[in-house]
Amino acid sequence: MEIPDDKGKSTPENSTIDTKKIRWSHKPQIMTCKHCDYKGLSKCEYDSGFIAWLMCGACIMVGCVFCCCLCPFCIEGLKICHHICPHCNKLVGSHHPGKL
Ligand SMILES: [Zn+2]
Repeated sequence: MEIPDDKGKSTPENSTIDTKKIRWSHKPQIMTCKHCDYKGLSKCEYDSGFIAWLMCGACIMVGCVFCCCLCPFCIEGLKICHHICPHCNKLVGSHHPGKL
């Protein structure tokens, strides 16, 4: 019994376009809602991800305690961005700053 093995490939191919494989950005973007088929701009809800915490910790270690350790929380690109459908208010996808 042989199972086709794709695990050896380091780069997955984008053969099928799936909602799960959409490259979400950290800003509202045009999307098609998989729940209600709404086409339009998504709503973004930001969540401070672990990278923001990591940056915060790094800043504290460097020595600038209060000013710039809060900066990572102000940079939207460092936050997890949840794309919400403005029509049905369901989560359509999320952008994680660590994953490109
Ligand atoms: Zn929707």
